[in-house]
Formats: sequence, structure tokens, C-alpha cells
Amino acid sequence: VSTWAQVPQGPPDPILGVTEAFRADRDPCKMNLGVGAYRDNDGKPYVLSCVRKAEKRLLDKSMDKEYLGITGHPGFVQRASKLAYGADSPALAESRVAATQSISGTGALRIGGEFLSRYYPYAKKIYLPTPSWGNHTPIFRDSGLEVGQYRYFDKTTNGLNIDGMLEDLQNLPANSIVLMHACAHNPTGVDPTAEQWDQISQVIKDRDHFCFFDMAYQGFASGNVDRDAQAVRQFVSRGHYVALSQSFAKNMGLYGERVGTFSLVCQSTEEMKAVESQLKILIRPLYSNPPLNGARIVNQVLSDSTLYSEWLSEVKGMADRIISMRTALKDHLVNDFGSQHNWDHITNQIGMFCYTGLKPDQVEKLTKEHHVYLTKDGRISIAGISSRNVEYLAQSIHAVTK
Ligand code: PMP
Repeated sequence: VSTWAQVPQGPPDPILGVTEAFRADRDPCKMNLGVGAYRDNDGKPYVLSCVRKAEKRLLDKSMDKEYLGITGHPGFVQRASKLAYGADSPALAESRVAATQSISGTGALRIGGEFLSRYYPYAKKIYLPTPSWGNHTPIFRDSGLEVGQYRYFDKTTNGLNIDGMLEDLQNLPANSIVLMHACAHNPTGVDPTAEQWDQISQVIKDRDHFCFFDMAYQGFASGNVDRDAQAVRQFVSRGHYVALSQSFAKNMGLYGERVGTFSLVCQSTEEMKAVESQLKILIRPLYSNPPLNGARIVNQVLSDSTLYSEWLSEVKGMADRIISMRTALKDHLVNDFGSQHNWDHITNQIGMFCYTGLKPDQVEKLTKEHHVYLTKDGRISIAGISSRNVEYLAQSIHAVTK
């Protein structure tokens, strides 16, 4: 027999499967609302102009291609940490944040998972919100952690189940690891309010839980990078020693450049140094050192005040376009097509995704009869909607929910 005869055929990735089906569709009205990447109002991928300028400057410098150190580009890591924790962060000023460049958010989560599985002194089990980004479970499982859940989304209101969430966090064993989406929760688009974050922070403190923040959308939720980092900063200022995964895929449109950071807030500089030494030991056999180009671009944008202001307005531009598509979609549904359902969650939810509340049979109809492609859970990427097709989408959603 052949050596690999026993290898079973695995299932395709659920999200990439949607894109394949979309590509095969010949209908001119077809819409792909499955992808998690920003599109401009013409449905095209968007490269930020601050990024184009940064690239040009870097090119003009004719820099070498030497290896970075194991933890990456020092200027990039420092500026990225400032962006996340705040320029006035005491934890940064006191040199007690261990940080490393990572292969975007996914790589940061994996580094964090591996670190926790080696050094977390209590139960090696991480609790995720229900639902969460589909890749969280395999990332943490492959890191050697067990994966559990806490309640998050309320299907009856299409909003946050704050009571269920607090109750679950309260009832977890003390010193549990909990994963939180810092902003623009994927896939639901539902974030806690500032007061709810207070309550969450209190329970986590009371129960001595450890919080791992996944921040894949800083700036993308509200259009303001400081506002979107509020939960993380609030936790740190309340004395939580959080871990953080940070990605520049969405907010700088650097998807394929794979640039991000993993960081861990420590109690002292000494502790930070020990943690960093172990991060290096963990990363070295994984990929030796991270890629150069994306880190240079982000460093350029974050260190030049003109490029930085341009970036802030471009982030806001992306967030605003998404917010305006939410408003338009709800408007068409309610006012033009007279849908009797409550669609407030479309505009209450935040970030790239909307959890529509569509049932699997309605999703199937939407795809088969209206050529609108989305994941089975009813999640649509608002970034895939434009002023030209928003009315068609509303009409189609109305048709399958009448
Ligand atoms: N976390 C969440 C919640 C995400 O939605 C994503 C992107 N889909 C990521 C992490 C990681 O993305 P990347 O590895 O491209 O930075």
C-alpha cells in the first residue's frame, strides 16, 4: 500500500469554501459577503495611501534584507505596543510589557497559546465566547490548551447576553484563562459597553482569571484607535496582567504582509525579561524570526506624524463606510421594503461583520435564489456591500425572511 493511503480527506475551510462557490457563480448580481477583508465602494481591495507612501520611502532607502532578531523589528514592536496600550501607559513606562513581533494576529494567538501551555501555573484551559472566530479553537487546541466556552451572544435579541456571560465567568474555576475580543467581536459584531466592561473586569478580578485579549480590529470598530483600545487599557489600569494579540491586517490593510504583535503585561521588569527570554526560546524553533517588510511599513507609518495622521483618517474612512452601509441596509429593509422584523441589530452591531440572525434555510435560499454568498451562521461581511448593491441585498434578505 501507499505510504499515505491512511490519510483521510479533510473538510474544506468553511469560509474559503464560500469564496469558491461565489467564484463559480455566473450571475451578474452575485455578492460575496463571506470574506473578512475590507473592500472599497467599488468592491475592490483597498491599499491605504499612507501604506503606499511608506512603501515608496522604504524603497528609496534601498535597505538591506538582513534577518530581524527573534522578536522582530524593535521600533515596530515598541510603536505598536504604544498604539495598543496608549502613549501614556504606565505599564510601558515601567518597562514591564514583554512584547514580540508575530505572524499577524493568528501567529500572536499561537505564540500566546504556546506560552500559556508551557508556563501558565493553573489549569491549561482557555475559555472562548460563544460563538467566537472559527480559528480560535484549533489555534489553542494545537497550542496544547484545552478549550472551553462562556456565554456571549443572545440569539433572541441579537445582542450581548451580559447576564449569562457574567454568570459563566463567575462560575469558572478560579484562575481560569479567558479570551476576550478587544473590539468588533467576530463573528457577531456585538461588543460590551464601557459599563459592561467594568462588570466583566470586576468578575475577572474577583475570580483571579487571566485575560487574553484578541485585538484584530483596533480602529476598525469606531473609527478611532484609542476608543477601540479602551477595554484593553481599562483592564491594564485596573491591575490585570493581560496578554494581547494585535494585528495590522485590517486596520492598515496589510493582510498578506502578516504583521502583528504578541505581548504580556508583567509585574516587574525582571519578570518581563524572563518572559521575553522564553518567548524567544519558543519562537526560534517555530520560524526563527518574523518577516521584515510589513513591520517596516507599520513602523514607517507610526513614526512619521504626517503618515500617522493620514492613517488615522483612512481608518476612520473605512469604519465610516461600513457604518453607512449598515444604515443603508437597515433603511432599505424597513423603509423601502417594509420588513416587519426588527433590524436594529444591523446598526447596533459594530465592525466588519453583522450577525444577521438569518436561519440556515434562509441563508441557503439567499445563496441559491439570490446569489448572495455568506457563511451558514448568517454572518455577513459589511465590507462586501457597496452603495450599488445594498438595495439588492436588502430586497433579497427581505424576500427570504417574509
Ligand atoms: N482574531 C480575530 C477575531 C479575527 O477576526 C482575525 C482575522 N480574521 C484574526 C484574529 C487574525 O487575523 P490575522 O492573522 O490575519 O491577523
